Amino acid sequence: MELEAQITDNLNAVAARIAAAAAAAGRAVTEIRLVAVSKTFGLAHVEAAVAAGLHDLGENKVQEALRKQAAASTLQVTWHLIGHLQSNKARKAVAAFDWIHSVDSVDLLRRLDRAASDCGRAPNLLIQVDLAGEATKQGAPEPEVRRIIDAADTCQSVAVRGLMVLPPWSQDPEAARPYFRRLRQLREELCAAGPDQSRLDQLSMGMSHDFEVAVEEGATMVRVGTALFGARPHTALAINEP
Ligand SMILES: *Cc1c(COP(=O)(O)O)cnc(C)c1O
Repeated sequence: MELEAQITDNLNAVAARIAAAAAAAGRAVTEIRLVAVSKTFGLAHVEAAVAAGLHDLGENKVQEALRKQAAASTLQVTWHLIGHLQSNKARKAVAAFDWIHSVDSVDLLRRLDRAASDCGRAPNLLIQVDLAGEATKQGAPEPEVRRIIDAADTCQSVAVRGLMVLPPWSQDPEAARPYFRRLRQLREELCAAGPDQSRLDQLSMGMSHDFEVAVEEGATMVRVGTALFGARPHTALAINEP
């Protein structure tokens, strides 16, 4: 119960900050989905998060998510994969997640679509965009983003719903603003290129230290871990950490 009370307090604070950022930008707060990033935390945190009213949970590893899902199978959760996905795990990912934020190649898209058709699933996909052009960063460079959008037209089961970005780490939230702004522009360019692409309605951007900037720049999903659950255990492997 103490854990639940703590997460509830954190959730109230985060929700108030999202509401303030949305109001300042003239946006409806209902447009913004809070994805609670439960990676590295165990079942107790998952249960407490759901009890506190969080129903979208984000994980960055397929295997870790599957373990939690098996233990938490009675809970009402929409699961989001926010970490890099290897194509040989496409099948498991499709079975485990409702949203996959990290599609970064046409090959991965096609594998996900085949896997989804085979197991009767229809996951929503986001294309992770590499706006920084860093070789070490994950995500598709812009030309590949366009190829993925084109290839999505012939997919049977998956739906490409938008874009995701993970800017280079900086302590200063304002450093992320140009990336968030560019992601929104890119979505507008893609939508202008064809009427079918108006279904690209999602922008997944913003984490604990910069979600207000992301909301100001048009985020429809913010991925927040630390601000809800506290610092992650140091022993755990955490991809995408600074
Ligand atoms: C871990 C992670 C987050 C959440 O980070 P916090 O700083 O704890 O809010 C968001 N997005 C991705 C891709 C992550 O890996």
